[in-house]
Amino acid sequence: MAPRIPISAGNWKMNLDNEAADDLCHALLLPDDDAIHQVEGVQVVLAPGFLQIERVRDHFAGTGVGVAGQNMHARDSGAFTGEVSPAQLAEVASWVILGHSERRQYFCEDDGALNGKVTAALAHGLRPILCVGETTQERQADRTTAVLTRQVRQALDGIDLPHDFVIAYEPLWAIGSGQAATAEQAQAAAAVIRGLVRDAAGNDVADGCRILYGGSVKPDNAGEFAAQTDIDGALVGGAALDDQNFLAITRAVAGSDQGR
Ligand code: PEP
Repeated sequence: MAPRIPISAGNWKMNLDNEAADDLCHALLLPDDDAIHQVEGVQVVLAPGFLQIERVRDHFAGTGVGVAGQNMHARDSGAFTGEVSPAQLAEVASWVILGHSERRQYFCEDDGALNGKVTAALAHGLRPILCVGETTQERQADRTTAVLTRQVRQALDGIDLPHDFVIAYEPLWAIGSGQAATAEQAQAAAAVIRGLVRDAAGNDVADGCRILYGGSVKPDNAGEFAAQTDIDGALVGGAALDDQNFLAITRAVAGSDQGR
């Protein structure tokens, strides 16, 4: 089995104007010998708002840093006011976050819709980061495995998955709350997810699938998450808006922060 290259992904959500986005990009790129793309052994992905995708892409041109949309529609074109199609997104980005809990919670995205989005993203050469995770109530009711099972099975049903597909485990109670999951909780969920991918797509895909943890990841906990057997990186919200924090998380995810 080829080693899984970990991912450090920053979701900027609906934050940063153009000037602030430029500043963050400059800070991540400078000083040149300590820039984010110089960190070895990790795939960095940045997900700015749609209007800033092209400028972020241009800042990082030639560095290997990937740029992602935070969402997209499943259809190629049509009368869907306010939406962005996979074809349009693929012209400017190579990754896309799908099924983020804020999309599920505030924009009524369900697993069936996500199945269509994952299918469309792959058809357009985009690399999806599919987000799954349970609410506080679901965890308290001991339904975490059942929820993950429904989300993964339905979102991936009938899809021919690439061997390096990416899924982010993001428990809702940990997102933006400052209360991260424990490494043990995250590992247990990631193992469930890898098992579901194994059932759905076989050993090659399951062994190659990158599973990220997201939810209040910070420089001081990123390394512990990344060290778990089934966790291959982090999806980062708030801490990705600060260059030093995101750089430190990226180093921790790459395992290259020792001695710093
Ligand atoms: C997220 O929104 O995907 C996220 C993980 O946010 P935060 O890191 O701020 O908890």
